[in-house]
Amino acid sequence: SSAITKSTKIVLNLESLGSLPADEAGPLARYASTIQAQRHDYNGKVLSIRTEDLKSLAIIYDMSPDELTTRLIEWGVLSPGADGSIYTDED
Ligand code: C2E
Ligand code: C2E
Ligand code: C2E
Repeated sequence: SSAITKSTKIVLNLESLGSLPADEAGPLARYASTIQAQRHDYNGKVLSIRTEDLKSLAIIYDMSPDELTTRLIEWGVLSPGADGSIYTDED
C-alpha cells in the first residue's frame, strides 16, 4: 500500500531545503517559494503543503509519490513518522 494517504501531513523543512544542491532540489525549492509567495508566508522554518502538491512534484521529478517521498527523507526535507506518516518534529 502507499505511504502517502489523504491524511498524511506533508511538512517541508525549509532550512534543509535551502542547503541542498540546486541541480537536485531546484524544482522543489521553486515550488515551495511559489507557495510561500501565494500565501505571503515568508518567515517559517517549515511549510505545510497539500498532498496534491506532492503528486504534482512527483510528475516534475518523474517519480512515483512514494519514490519522491523517500528522496525527500534522504535529503532531510521530510522526516519519516513512526507510523509511516510524514512530518518533521526536529524543532
Ligand atoms: P485558494 O486555493 O482559492 O485558497 C483560498 C484560501 O483558502 C487560502 O488563502 C487559505 O486561506 C484557504 N485554504 C485553502 N485550502 C486550504 C488548506 O488546505 N488548508 C488551509 N489551512 N487553508 C486553506 P491563501 O493561503 O492566502 O492562499 C491563496 C492562494 O494561493 C490559494 O487560493 C491557492 O491558489 C494558492 N495556494 C496557497 N497555498 C497553496 C498550496 O499549498 N498549494 C497550492 N496548490 N496552492 C496554494
Ligand atoms: P501544526 O500544523 O502541527 O504546525 C506546527 C507549527 O509548525 C506551527 O505553529 C508553525 O510554527 C509551523 N508551521 C507548520 N506549517 C507551516 C507553514 O506552512 N508555514 C509556516 N510559516 N509555519 C508552519 P503555529 O503557527 O503556532 O500553529 C500551531 C497549530 O495551529 C498548527 O499545528 C495547526 O494545528 C494550527 N494552525 C495554525 N495556523 C493554521 C492555519 O492556517 N490553518 C490550520 N488549519 N491550522 C492552523
Ligand atoms: P491538504 O490539502 O493536503 O493540505 C495540507 C496542509 O497544507 C494544510 O493543513 C495546510 O497546513 C497547508 N495548506 C494547503 N493549502 C493551503 C493554502 O491554500 N493556504 C495555506 N495557508 N495553507 C495551505 P490543514 O489546514 O490542516 O488542512 C488539512 C486538510 O483539510 C487539507 O489537506 C485539505 O484536504 C482540507 N482542507 C482544509 N482547508 C480546506 C479548504 O479551504 N478547501 C479544501 N478543498 N480543503 C481544505
